[in-house]
Amino acid sequence: MSNVDFKNYFETYFKNYPNKDGYFGKYGGQYLPPQLIEPFNEITEAYQTICKSASFINELRRIRKEFQGRPTPVYHCEKLSRLFGNMQIYLKREDLNHTGAHKLNHCMGEGLLAKFLGKKKLIAETGAGQHGVALATAAAFYGLECDIYMGEVDIKKQAPNVARMKLLGARVIPVSHGLKTLKEAVDAAFEGYLKEYETSIYCIGSVVGPHPFPMMVRDFQMVVGEEAHAQYKEMTGEMPDTVVACVGGGSNAMGIFSAFLKEPVKIVGVEPMGIGEKKGEHAASITFGKEGILHGFNSLLLQNEKGEPDPVYSIASGLDYPSVGPEHAFFHDINRVEYTSASDEEALEAFFLLSKYEGIIPALESSHALAYAIREARKPNASGSILVNLSGRGDKDIDYVIENYGIDFLEKLDKKRNKK
Ligand SMILES: *Cc1c(COP(=O)(O)O)cnc(C)c1O
Repeated sequence: MSNVDFKNYFETYFKNYPNKDGYFGKYGGQYLPPQLIEPFNEITEAYQTICKSASFINELRRIRKEFQGRPTPVYHCEKLSRLFGNMQIYLKREDLNHTGAHKLNHCMGEGLLAKFLGKKKLIAETGAGQHGVALATAAAFYGLECDIYMGEVDIKKQAPNVARMKLLGARVIPVSHGLKTLKEAVDAAFEGYLKEYETSIYCIGSVVGPHPFPMMVRDFQMVVGEEAHAQYKEMTGEMPDTVVACVGGGSNAMGIFSAFLKEPVKIVGVEPMGIGEKKGEHAASITFGKEGILHGFNSLLLQNEKGEPDPVYSIASGLDYPSVGPEHAFFHDINRVEYTSASDEEALEAFFLLSKYEGIIPALESSHALAYAIREARKPNASGSILVNLSGRGDKDIDYVIENYGIDFLEKLDKKRNKK
């Protein structure tokens, strides 16, 4: 598609996608056990009514401003840009959103929906604990109960996030079967929800899962793009040449991309290439995945011959998911978004450089998006501008990075590169 085609196509896009069955092209849908179809349809119908109501919109607006501290700013990285040459790097500062990442944007929306529906409890699973913490925060704010299902292995690994969830008043329910990690936690959370769907709501942590979640989470994240579009325009008088975000499930990316789809802007999603391109070394679901169903939706999936999900790895635990939001698979098919990847090493370099040159410690997830910007800025004769969605702050990652890679990571990397 040309730029003109984009403009026309995306003018009406959000009215048409997903279709009423939750499909973006062939991706998405709702693959549920029979007992859960009714509860999910109830959520869909309620959402479609409530999201148009003035009281819901006004209340969410007030919460974003007064509780979350929105709008988050757009920031021009002058020093980092100068380090590489002419390309100007800008950040959308979701690290300054309350709790330090974009995830709270959809959790506050899901919580408000629960409140409007008269539900008493929020239910979810969590892997590394980031979604659990954001949801527990929302539950505390709305005065709702919160059950977070978490694999026993993850509970041991993520002690600070477990403590946070408990401090916020959530119940952390250990899942002790199978591999005792995220996959089992998803099953257990579904079972828990099935037992009490009349008084609770299931909250998914990204633009994944059965319809209506990819749509709902996208809609709640669109505030990121709306703000960034207006802020960037006010700062510079124009549009950025490129907009980039990291893609795990794809919620922060959908948030910022949404406002730029109809603009003549190059849009890039960055997947985690981990430590290599072999099975189990990365989590690049769009780059290497094939069509398949996981967790109730059809998308691109890293899978074996039997259709079982492959093991995945990334230094950024928020990115290690074997599938991806169906709308990203669709954007890949229609060629509106370019999907590429960054390795652990590139993300680490970005993590250190942004800290040192701008005084901002980025989440390892967000460092993947920044790594792409740095790679582009280093190219000979690079110019123009790039807007990076800085999805979260990196305080959670500092101990792990320093212990495993050393405070002198940049010097070691320099030596390694000079040898080549
Ligand atoms: C969870 C997380 C991500 C990945 O989730 P998406 O749905 O792909 O946005 C990215 N950045 C941060 C800081 C996260 O916590």
